Amino acid sequence: MIATARVTDGSRYVAKRARVWLADDTGTGATPALAVIDLGPGELDWRAAPHIVAAVADALDRGETHYTARSGIAPLRHALAERIGAESGVAYDPRAEILISSGGQEGLFVAVQMLIRPGDEVLLADPGYPTYADAVRLAGGVCVPVPVDPTAGVGLTADAIAARLTPRSRLLVLVSPDNPTGTVIGRDEMAKIAALAVERDFLVLFDEIYKAFVFDGAEHVNIAAFPGMRARTVIVGSFSKEYAMTGWRVGYVAGEAHLIQPITDLKLALSICSAAPSQWAALAALTGPQDAVAAMRADLAERRAALLPALAAMGVPHGNPRGAYYAFADIRSTGLSSADCARVFLERAGVRTLPGHLFGPGGEGFLRFALAQPVPAIRDAMTRLAPIVGELKPNEPQRRGGRR
Ligand code: PMP
Repeated sequence: MIATARVTDGSRYVAKRARVWLADDTGTGATPALAVIDLGPGELDWRAAPHIVAAVADALDRGETHYTARSGIAPLRHALAERIGAESGVAYDPRAEILISSGGQEGLFVAVQMLIRPGDEVLLADPGYPTYADAVRLAGGVCVPVPVDPTAGVGLTADAIAARLTPRSRLLVLVSPDNPTGTVIGRDEMAKIAALAVERDFLVLFDEIYKAFVFDGAEHVNIAAFPGMRARTVIVGSFSKEYAMTGWRVGYVAGEAHLIQPITDLKLALSICSAAPSQWAALAALTGPQDAVAAMRADLAERRAALLPALAAMGVPHGNPRGAYYAFADIRSTGLSSADCARVFLERAGVRTLPGHLFGPGGEGFLRFALAQPVPAIRDAMTRLAPIVGELKPNEPQRRGGRR
């Protein structure tokens, strides 16, 4: 009885959504008639570069098959400190201010557990990546959604955040480039958010997992670099997206020692250390040739050119995403809910997308398209969808779904 009660209690926080994601990426259970073009997943079809794969074989040959230091192998922490310093101008001590985590996911999870106390309020974008809210609720925190208009293309703004601050506000979760909207927060807005954090005294968990992928002249700006922000920012990053290493499970957490120390303690309790061979592979990724990243970026630019204008031509707005590899398409004019629209697209066109409600109530009326397939497949998907969208739109204006 007691065990059952505890499981039920836990499921209030995370299990329901996790089941939706695992059972079926669309959450619809639909069976498509055509061969599926899968624009649902949060990863690309690319593989890790050969020198990264070779580094694992080398590590295994050398017997790097033991626990590592709990914060991760020293050369990787040093290389990361150098990279973060070069990219954002913020210096971190690799001995005490960097933790190697099992993917960004573990990093942000342990960070949230240690940065907030029960009852603390945490501001989160709605729509947003759902793991943040799960982690906050599990830590006893109170999620304070900050509405973001996905069609505006600007993401979280200082004004929207300021309007939701209270004396209990402890933490802001910020992700740029964003999943699911692809929004990149610009330097001016980031400066305003940083000034607000200093003035109103809250911490920022900054997820920069998609930092390698910015387009159309957008710039990745790290909030830790603004005055007063090093002391109140925890950065979470990952090798998953930049180096096509999703299955290798290596990420990092960076911040001042007093913030990173407790996070490292929880990571130790959770998983001791991250997988040793994967850490050596991550080191090779960081210090080796970067051509594969450049090639991925160039390929993504072409995929964007195949997707974004085609959506716009169908009369489906997408907020001009300038980063990550997603478009969050506004399908409200079809008159369908996001779940129904995802099902119709899958059943009738064999195109799999993610319904926006999986990213929070603010995602209702939207579908996430991932640039997960090569250009010809994306073109094919758009050709299949155009007549269906054209058919849906004029018929159902009175049934506009979604809140915004
Ligand atoms: N943050 C964001 C915004 C993500 O989209 C993801 C994965 N899709 C993660 C963190 C975690 O990724 P990983 O654990 O593979 O680093």
